[in-house]
Amino acid sequence: MPEPTFATIVNLAKKRGFVFQASEIYGGLRSAYDYGPLGVALLRNVKEAWWRSMVRSRDDVVGLDSAIIQSPLVWEASGHVSQFHDPLVECTSCHSRHRLDKLEDQSRCPKCGTRESFTEARDFNLMFRTHMGPVAGEGNLVYLRPETAQGIFTNFENVRRVMRRKLPFGIAQVGKSFRNEITPGQFVFRTREFEQMEMEFFTHPDEADQWFEYWIDERRAWYLDLGMRSDNLRLRSHQGDELAHYAVGTYDVEYRFPWGWDELEGIANRTDFDLRMHSEHSGKDLRYFDQAAGERFYPYVIEPAAGATRAAFAFLIDAYDEEIVRGATRAVLRIDSRLAPIKVAVLPLSRKPDLVEVTGRVASLLRPRWDIEVDVTQAIGRRYRRQDEIGTPLCVTVDFRTLDDRAVTVRDRDTMAQDRVSIDRLVGYLADRLADSPRTGA
Ligand code: ATP
Repeated sequence: MPEPTFATIVNLAKKRGFVFQASEIYGGLRSAYDYGPLGVALLRNVKEAWWRSMVRSRDDVVGLDSAIIQSPLVWEASGHVSQFHDPLVECTSCHSRHRLDKLEDQSRCPKCGTRESFTEARDFNLMFRTHMGPVAGEGNLVYLRPETAQGIFTNFENVRRVMRRKLPFGIAQVGKSFRNEITPGQFVFRTREFEQMEMEFFTHPDEADQWFEYWIDERRAWYLDLGMRSDNLRLRSHQGDELAHYAVGTYDVEYRFPWGWDELEGIANRTDFDLRMHSEHSGKDLRYFDQAAGERFYPYVIEPAAGATRAAFAFLIDAYDEEIVRGATRAVLRIDSRLAPIKVAVLPLSRKPDLVEVTGRVASLLRPRWDIEVDVTQAIGRRYRRQDEIGTPLCVTVDFRTLDDRAVTVRDRDTMAQDRVSIDRLVGYLADRLADSPRTGA
């Protein structure tokens, strides 16, 4: 089947309640989105899979949840106030604004087509500003964080001490970040409010290169393990002036989006830049003391920084498939069961009270373990189609035979093969089929 178009995925996301336009009843707010019931489940599953792989399954990484609004001094020290900007140009003909480094043809306005119409590029700082407290003034200017990382650096010593950590170790965080992007777009790919999944891995400077390689491999493997197709994934090294002000090396994990290759995640060697800056600006010594070697130094930091909302979108695109079944097109989301918003749908063949009653009992057997959906409306074919489209791995159908044989039919999303399974054995059977499948939000 041909690759899905961007419009197909956006339509699916809207139609099935993954993503809604924010403030839709007021005409919407540009490039702001709300996650609907299925979208929030998918997003939580992505974050959960990340947390499981980065924190819970490791003994060298711990978690953190720092504040979105930090002291403005944090952003001065980190260089964000002076350097976190993109080059902004304005077309003198149609007055549209663009981010110069993302334009394919930097001499032609992509909106009105006029050539050589851009103003000189000026640095536009991407941090959202607001004021803390009742009076708006320069004295209480604060920023919404543009990355979660700085809350980790400022807590480096707290975490090291209370968790009694020795190098190397990492601190991971998942949460919202905000960037006043010049040109948000491509649906939820680039928004001004988004979620990040970041981990700062602190190492001895001599071991930084080795850990850099390690985390590049690990992070690529994470996407593959969750079913992303390898020919849609690649690694790309940053060149020269593409490098952020704090990094000596960066690899992007890129995904082949419908509009071309684009970034999913960046893995950077941030050197000792952040800890050194925070030490200098705060006056607190954030160096690490290695007792065995009698050595005091600033650790280097390897940072895998991924977007949760962006990854969820990529998983959605990657899983989408269409096939012809008995002359009709079947749309199916072949998404890993760990990410699927609903794990099992329970469907009575008809609305007859006997069947609905058994359906209720089957549902209450399954609900404590998995995210399930009970659907009693419409013809069974249409209900299967909906579950296929939202990626539900297994459908359990309660039919008239169930009343006699105490068994149900379990239909597989990908193969459409059906198994007859007795209700007594159902939980064990589904547990085997959904191995590894965490409950959403667990
Ligand atoms: P770009 O150059 O495309 O603006 P970046 O390289 O500055 O992005 P990073 O600072 O490396 O991005 O951010 C780490 C991750 O956070 C990105 O790989 C992406 O997944 C996510 N991310 C960054 N900005 C946005 C955004 N505006 N919307 C959604 N996700 C984002």
